[in-house]
Amino acid sequence: MASLQQRLPENVPGDFFVDSTCIDCDTCSQLAPEIFHDHGEQCSVYHQPETAAETERAMMALVSCPTGSIGTTERHNAHLGIDAFPLLLEDNVYFCGFTSESSFGAWSYLITRPPSEGGNVLIDSPRFASQLLKRIDALGGVSRMLLTHKDDVADHELFRKRFHCERVMHADDGAARLGIEQVIRGEEPFQLDDDLLVIPTPGHTRGHVVYLYRNKFLFTGDHLAWLPARQTLTAFRSVAWYSWAEQTRSMANLLNYEFEWVLPGHGDIHHDNAPTMHDHLARCVSWMQTVT
Ligand code: SF4
Repeated sequence: MASLQQRLPENVPGDFFVDSTCIDCDTCSQLAPEIFHDHGEQCSVYHQPETAAETERAMMALVSCPTGSIGTTERHNAHLGIDAFPLLLEDNVYFCGFTSESSFGAWSYLITRPPSEGGNVLIDSPRFASQLLKRIDALGGVSRMLLTHKDDVADHELFRKRFHCERVMHADDGAARLGIEQVIRGEEPFQLDDDLLVIPTPGHTRGHVVYLYRNKFLFTGDHLAWLPARQTLTAFRSVAWYSWAEQTRSMANLLNYEFEWVLPGHGDIHHDNAPTMHDHLARCVSWMQTVT
């Protein structure tokens, strides 16, 4: 619960505010960029909501904030934010909202599928929040949980216990230690089922992987994201904890695949047609090759 006493001075006066517990995960500024912005080391409100749509978006950011750092001085119906999640992106792919502090506010996603197609799939872990669980239940629960890498696993054990879902993760990110049911090894791509491919992408961590669904949706964890300020796909040099050279190599390998959506854990989502996304990725790889 955000505290009025800790309201950041960077907020404009009015109802919504961010307090000093903000960890600068950028979830709010990505979800409601018309309300929140990153003013440096933290985020704040630069424009108070004026319309019903803006208020709903601000409430979605409030329930998604991993640290409860967003508050209001007026009363609002929390269901404005809660009931918006999981948020449909396209087809049967949703953004979960409700980010977790233990994965630094990383974004997670849900694919809904009938049992005949393997059932629902959760990609990385949202916060284990009862309001979200009810809504995932209503959409059919979770059959499989795909983990991109070790620092975005958050509440994976609780989801496993609640939904009895099989978890998937690479051996080189400590899958055995975490008790993961399906362990991916080596660098070869692996077909999980007719629609889901796991592609090892070492770099951010040694065992980082991305997941490609129907050659359309690429779930990229901390490997690849959109950078709106430069209108380009990018990777994060400062957090290439395992190896930037390996990340550059595994990024170039992604040029062999077709996709329309980049759905990251951190950084912005982007969607365009497959040839344009390929061009963006090629430019990203060229840039990475110039950086040491
Ligand atoms: S979502 Fe919360 S923690 Fe993340 S930047 Fe916004 S206020 Fe800060």
